[in-house]
Amino acid sequence: MNPVAGKYSAKYLITYNYYPFPMHGIIFDIKNFAIHDGPGIRQTIFFKGCPLLCWWCHNPESRSADIFSIEKEEIIDGVKVRDVETIGKKYSVAELLNEIKKDIVFFEESGGGITLSGGEPLLQYDFVLALLKECRKLEIHTCIDTTGNINSDKLLNIASLTNLFLFDLKHMDNDQHIKYAGVNNKLILKNLKLLDEMGKDIWIRFPLIPGINDDESNLLRMMDFLSKRKSSHPISILPYHKIGKHKYERTGIDFKMNGFQEPATNDVTKIMNMFTDAGFSTSIGG
Ligand code: SF4
Repeated sequence: MNPVAGKYSAKYLITYNYYPFPMHGIIFDIKNFAIHDGPGIRQTIFFKGCPLLCWWCHNPESRSADIFSIEKEEIIDGVKVRDVETIGKKYSVAELLNEIKKDIVFFEESGGGITLSGGEPLLQYDFVLALLKECRKLEIHTCIDTTGNINSDKLLNIASLTNLFLFDLKHMDNDQHIKYAGVNNKLILKNLKLLDEMGKDIWIRFPLIPGINDDESNLLRMMDFLSKRKSSHPISILPYHKIGKHKYERTGIDFKMNGFQEPATNDVTKIMNMFTDAGFSTSIGG
């Protein structure tokens, strides 16, 4: 129950439904005409389920691997209004391919394709593998936005069917990574090294969170780690923003970022210049 002062009040009831993973994918959103999730115009498919628990996550509804519904009851000007929203939808590979095929003409014209994001898409390994095989047959460019926190053998299998990885680097310090992202970073760093050694195209994504990972020591460690890789990988800095805050109340998840601020533009530029001066191709956003 969330009493809100004035004429408006609301309460939420969350109900979970369970579906088996392997034969179906559980998707919580599909974004058409995305232009920041890889090259060209893309269809970004958001998978449910994530092994991390980042404090700053702006898609907390993606964390649970299950489909659930949120029942919202509001009193507006004395009238009770009830609304039920379902978070997540079950797709077969054929159903998802039908969605993807609608945008193929845009992929072809722009050099785009599909991006599998989340959550962590590779938690739904069997489904993703089957989907990527079909996309390869159709010559669709494929990109995976990953936390890197998945079994290395599975990642390498997937890599052979994937054109590009967007790979998140959140913190180089293991203790800080455990504190703020819920898991240690050893597997993540190992997997990034493996993909690099395999010669895969990788774009690094660095969520910049003031007070958590913007200190000089972390930035220098990140540059040191990346400079030792076989290839130079471009870096996108993703400045923290609070636009997902309202989702925490709706999903009943504890919001831990009270007291943390969005970074000032000058600070973001300063950090971008640090990476650029060190020889990395760096951009903001994406
Ligand atoms: S990895 Fe992404 S989806 Fe998962 S908890 Fe962190 S921010 Fe959220």
